[in-house]
Amino acid sequence: MTDEAASRPQLVFVTRNPGKVREISALLKEQFNVLSLDDIGCEDEIPETAHDLQGNARMKAAYVAERFGVDCFADDTGLEVEALGGRPGVHTARFAGPEADAKANMHKLIHDLQDAPSRKAQFRTSMALIQGGKTTLFEGVCKGQIRNEQTGHEGFGYDPVFAPTTIDDEGQEQHELTFAEMPADEKNAISHRGHAVRAMVEYLLEAH
Ligand code: IMP
Repeated sequence: MTDEAASRPQLVFVTRNPGKVREISALLKEQFNVLSLDDIGCEDEIPETAHDLQGNARMKAAYVAERFGVDCFADDTGLEVEALGGRPGVHTARFAGPEADAKANMHKLIHDLQDAPSRKAQFRTSMALIQGGKTTLFEGVCKGQIRNEQTGHEGFGYDPVFAPTTIDDEGQEQHELTFAEMPADEKNAISHRGHAVRAMVEYLLEAH
């Protein structure tokens, strides 16, 4: 690590998902050294039993800040599907059952939307930052549509079935690519988590 990198403040990201750590490190690398739970030797099963995304983000961040005495942030993301009345929302990770993986979750989603009048959906990320014991909340939303088949190999989770809304030169909404067909930096620029992280980064830069 260079001296400059070593002098950056450290922030622990309460996650074990290497895809998410890579995404956020790319956005924060000039300002902070982002550490994962593995980097601080945390092997605990972090509780996330709240009833909404914001509650889970707060709960996860508070757990790590209290036990490890670090500044940290935690996120919780849900997919809110219009035709399903906003579900799976806070249950997105376990949509197809307690042990469900991404394939099983996408399969159920495609099945449940077979005759749906709308394919509109949005990802929402709630983020809780705890710095010096103070909690600040951020949010990011990305609107899009659910495809009825999986396309692309980038990203993770529901990326192969989620086509984010983009605006073309004529001002028309387009859903040409899924997240899984986009390079990480293109996804970061428009994603729910990208928006939430940038809101947090803006806050951190203003505060220092
Ligand atoms: P978490 O709160 O980030 O753990 O995400 C909850 C659920 O949403 C998991 O099933 C993830 O796979 C899914 N998810 C979160 N972010 C994304 C994303 O950027 N693309 C696709 N799926 C996501």
